[in-house]
Amino acid sequence: MPYILALDQGTTSSRAILFDHDGGIHAVARKEFGQIFPKPGWVEHDPNELWASQMSVAAEALGRANLGPRDIAAVGITNQRETAIVWDRTTGQAIYNAIVWQDRRTASFCDGLKANGCEQMIQHRTGLLIDAYFSSSKIAWILDNVPKARERARAGKLAFGTVDSWLVWKLTGGRKHVTDASNASRTMLFNIHTGEWDEEILRLFDIPRSLLPEVRSSSEVYGEITTPRELEGVPVAGIAGDQQAALFGQMCLSPGLTKNTYGTGCFMLQNTGEKAVASRNRLLATIAWKIGERTEYALEGSVFSGGSVVQWVRDCLGLIRSAPEIEQLAGSVPDNGGIYLVPAFTGLGAPHWDQYARGLLIGLTRGSTAAHIARAALECIAYQVADLLDAMHADAGIKLKELRVDGGASANNLLMQFQADLLGVPVVRPAVTETTALGAAYLAGLAASYWRNSQEISAQWRAERRFEPQMTRAGAEALRERWSTALDRAKVWEPR
Ligand code: ADP
Repeated sequence: MPYILALDQGTTSSRAILFDHDGGIHAVARKEFGQIFPKPGWVEHDPNELWASQMSVAAEALGRANLGPRDIAAVGITNQRETAIVWDRTTGQAIYNAIVWQDRRTASFCDGLKANGCEQMIQHRTGLLIDAYFSSSKIAWILDNVPKARERARAGKLAFGTVDSWLVWKLTGGRKHVTDASNASRTMLFNIHTGEWDEEILRLFDIPRSLLPEVRSSSEVYGEITTPRELEGVPVAGIAGDQQAALFGQMCLSPGLTKNTYGTGCFMLQNTGEKAVASRNRLLATIAWKIGERTEYALEGSVFSGGSVVQWVRDCLGLIRSAPEIEQLAGSVPDNGGIYLVPAFTGLGAPHWDQYARGLLIGLTRGSTAAHIARAALECIAYQVADLLDAMHADAGIKLKELRVDGGASANNLLMQFQADLLGVPVVRPAVTETTALGAAYLAGLAASYWRNSQEISAQWRAERRFEPQMTRAGAEALRERWSTALDRAKVWEPR
């Protein structure tokens, strides 16, 4: 039986994972690549290094499993989203480094757009809030700053792509310039309702239509691989942005099913079915995936400080030596002892949106210990996720039945139990936590008829552990009440 190869091109590393027919992991290879910080707030990647590292891990995973192209039924791609690359169609060389989603160089340009009153129109059509985070202002920056770029773009000589497009272009020897609907929906140039590039927004950013890739579904054969040799002839058959791929890998395939990734920050996506929900709470509406002619949508919200709070406890407070140690320390006391940590280190994201908020540790008494602080640090991750879910509930009106979780900090049992207690619904951790790569593999495998349909793959999803709520609702409400009070005190702290 052949395998599916998922290429997971993330922000800090490229990974290749081979999945078997049962959705199990057969082999993995991972390689970090360089982060380029030319100025404060600027973040770039070398597009050639993204490609080279991705190829080397693919070859490594295949070598480790002793497999060749004939053993691979299809390749699926998932990627860091929004990151923008512009390249020359003739030479295939990028004209500037990849400008990474974290890059803030276009923040004032975006403020200008907001001041011009474009926000409503853009939110209505793209589902996004104007921000430097999305691709459009990054593309405009490259066209404005690389000599003759706009002229060459107008003459049809250049191509833009998010990282998925770049990889497919390279894999197919420049034959295919495509992206999928989930990635297109993060460019801030794509009308998520009509499924087309938006001419008016393109004019606003002065981006020629000819620069853009063809938008395809998330699960279909885009083309056959010509390079590298190890994958020659294998079809590329699935593409999705990393968070959407994780939603798919978590089998959140019907409206209301929700996943949260506890990484450095937290990323929550809720499937809203065929309806793009216009958020009134400053969440994002985005395309989850397009399969066949059917486009499905998700609501998305993120928390800036998630697992990074644990890193702060480790590196800045020195209370633990490794991230997993926090569980034991926090578990050595029965509760938080009245301590709340508001981790507004870089302000507060959804749904509070206060860039002037700063971190706060409150409720300290003479009896407060390192263990209480560790507990407050874990708990604050769960409080923020609960606030985000309230906003989703207010927007979509869907009652959550369970929360599916993944990411580094989801390994923490104390945190997961507390999350279930706060939400009053079970928190479910799957057996395969490589949900991003798994989602890409499933999308590719469906198109290649490796799996028959989504029912077949849904049946493969297994929970490793289910955390049932144990706290009374009144107990949880009282805790959330105190958290809200602490949150209010942390708001608008930094002078404007
Ligand atoms: P990213 O993809 O954002 O790099 P990961 O999913 O790899 O993040 O998760 C890493 C984060 O998880 C780190 O911030 C780390 O502090 C946190 N983390 C890892 N293990 C644990 C644990 N057992 N308990 C709490 N946090 C953890």
